[in-house]
Amino acid sequence: MGQFNNEIWFIGAEMAPLVKAGGLGDVMGSLPGVLLKAGINVRVVIPYYKNIIPQNLIEIKESYPAGKVNFGEIPFEFGIKTGITNRGIPLILIEQNHFFNREEVYGPHGGIYGYKDNLWRFAMLAHGAAYAMRIFGVPLIIHTHDWSGGFVPAVIKQTFGDKKVRLAAAGILNAKLSKHISADGLRPAVIFTIHNLGYQGVYGIDDFYDIGIDFRYNSSSAYEHFGTLNSLKGGMLLSDFVTTVSPTYANEVTTPVFGFGLNGELKNLYNDGKLKGILNGIDLDYWNPKTDNLIPHNLNLQENNYKPKDYKEWKEFKLKNKKALFSEVSLPLKIGRNGKPLPLLGIVSRFTEEKGIDIFLDSLFNWDNFPFQVIILGSGKDYIEGKALYLSEIHRDKVYSHTGKYDEALSHKIYAASDIFVMPSKFEPCGLSQMIAMRYGGVIAAGDTGGLHDTVSDIMDTNTGKPSGIFIKHLDANGVSWALNELYNIYMSNNDEIWGNLVINSANKHFGWDNSAKIYENLYYNIIK
Ligand code: ADP
Repeated sequence: MGQFNNEIWFIGAEMAPLVKAGGLGDVMGSLPGVLLKAGINVRVVIPYYKNIIPQNLIEIKESYPAGKVNFGEIPFEFGIKTGITNRGIPLILIEQNHFFNREEVYGPHGGIYGYKDNLWRFAMLAHGAAYAMRIFGVPLIIHTHDWSGGFVPAVIKQTFGDKKVRLAAAGILNAKLSKHISADGLRPAVIFTIHNLGYQGVYGIDDFYDIGIDFRYNSSSAYEHFGTLNSLKGGMLLSDFVTTVSPTYANEVTTPVFGFGLNGELKNLYNDGKLKGILNGIDLDYWNPKTDNLIPHNLNLQENNYKPKDYKEWKEFKLKNKKALFSEVSLPLKIGRNGKPLPLLGIVSRFTEEKGIDIFLDSLFNWDNFPFQVIILGSGKDYIEGKALYLSEIHRDKVYSHTGKYDEALSHKIYAASDIFVMPSKFEPCGLSQMIAMRYGGVIAAGDTGGLHDTVSDIMDTNTGKPSGIFIKHLDANGVSWALNELYNIYMSNNDEIWGNLVINSANKHFGWDNSAKIYENLYYNIIK
C-alpha cells in the first residue's frame, strides 16, 4: 500500500474562502494555514464544487488516473485534481460532477434542506481521499470533520487495516522523513472533530449497503444507531480521538440535553480520555479592523493592547462604518437620548432554531417602540427569513434584513458597524461570529452555552472584571428583551466610559489560533507516539 509521507490531511466538506457554509469552512481555511506556518506538512482534501469554488484557487494542471467506487451495483468514477490556495495551502480536490457540481455545499437555503443524496456525496469524499493516498502517499494523520467526514475512518480502516502507525520521534511532522516508512499493514491515525452535533447524517440502515463501506461497520459500535445509519456516530467511534470546538461544549455533549442521542457514547469517550474540547480560533489577518478591505473605514490605531482612552477612536470607527452601511442599505441614522445614535444591533447567522434568531425577532415584535436599529444577515428556515423580512417591512426606518444568499462583504460591514452583536443560541459548539464581532469592538448579547460561555465575559460576572457582553439568562423573547434593555441603559448612560470599557474589553480579547494550534499539534504528536 505504498509509503507514508509525513503529512496531516484535513478532510472535510468546506474550506474558506473557497467554499463556506458556516464555521467549519472557517476552521478548514484557517487552522491548516497556521500549522503550515509552524512547519507542519498539511494538505486539505475537499470535493471539487466546480460551480462554487471561484477564484483564490490556483489549479495545478497535472492529470492523475481516475478512481472508481461501487455504490451497491453501480460503479462511479471520480477524478483527482490538485491546487493551492492564494495563501499557499496545498489542496486535493475530489472531482465527481454528478455529486459535487451543485449550487450549494449541503443543499438549498444554506443546507437547511439537505440534498437527498448527501449520504453518497460524502461517502464519495471519503473514498476519493483514500484513493488520493495511493497517488500522493499515505499521511501519518488524518483530521476529519463532522458527519460529512464521518465515513473517512471506516474507509481508512478497510483500506489500510486496523493497526495504527506509531513513530517514536516527536517532531516528525515538521521534519523530512529520513527513511521511507512502508505503509504496509499500517494505517494513519484519525482525529475527528465535531463542529455541530445537531447534524449527524442519519439515513435508513438499508442504505448502508450502497456506500462502499465494509459491512462489519454496520454495528452499534460503529454506524448503526437504533436501527438507523448514523454517519457522525460511526465517524467518532471509529476514530482514535475526538475533539469538540470548545471546552464547555465537550462537557455539554455528554448530557442528554445537548447530546442529541449520542451523549452515552460521548460520555464513554470522555471517560476513556478520548474526547477533548479545543477552542476554535479566527484568522486574525482576515478579520482585522485595521486592514479589512471589505469595510469602508478601518480602525486608526496602531497598538493591539487598547487602553480606555482609545475608546474615542473606536467610537469613530463604529460611527463611520455605521453611517456608510446605513447609506448603502438606505436606513436613516436615528438619534436617541443624549444626542447619541440608537445602538445598532447586528445579526449574522444561519437561520435555524438552534441560533435563537426567531426568539430575538419575537422580542422586537413584543416591544412597542424598540430603541434600536437593526441589521440582519442570514439564511435558512423560511419562517425565520419571513419574520425578519416582515420586521424590516413594518420598521423601515429601523430594520434592514438581507435574507437568502449569504453575502460575505456585508457580513464584514455588519461586524464593523454593530454596537451590539446578538447570538441567542440555544447551543453553540464554538461560535466564531461573536469572536469576530468582539474583534471589531462589538458588545455581545448571547446565550450562556458552549463556546459563547468560553469566549464572552458577562457584565454580571465579577470574577473576570473584563466584561464584554451579557448572557441572556432565559432564552425566550422576554429574556432577550431583558438583556437588550440592560445593554441599552449602559450604552445610553451619561457616562461614556462604562460602554467604552465594554468595547475595549471586547477588542482586547485574543481569539487567534496560536494557543489552540499548539494543543492540536500536541494531540497530533501524541496520537502517533
Ligand atoms: P455556524 O454554526 O454557522 O458554523 P459560527 O459562528 O461557528 O456558526 O460560524 C459563523 C461563520 O459563518 C462566520 O464566518 C459567519 O460570518 C459565517 N456565516 C454566518 N451565517 C452564514 C450563512 N448563512 N452562510 C454562510 N456563512 C455564514
